[in-house]
Amino acid sequence: MDILYYCQNKQCQNAQETPYVLTLKLDDVMDEKNMAQMYCPHCKTELKKEEPKT
Ligand SMILES: [Zn+2]
Repeated sequence: MDILYYCQNKQCQNAQETPYVLTLKLDDVMDEKNMAQMYCPHCKTELKKEEPKT
């Protein structure tokens, strides 16, 4: 099972044509509470697990 993290920045979504999505394997996220917060490499916005509203 994969975990998807989405960039929520609408301006970034427009600039990138498709929203930036980071895919992690569940195995890589064994201890989710202790995971570092991840950021979009394009706009530095926090990535969230929810799909961005369009
Ligand atoms: Zn972004």
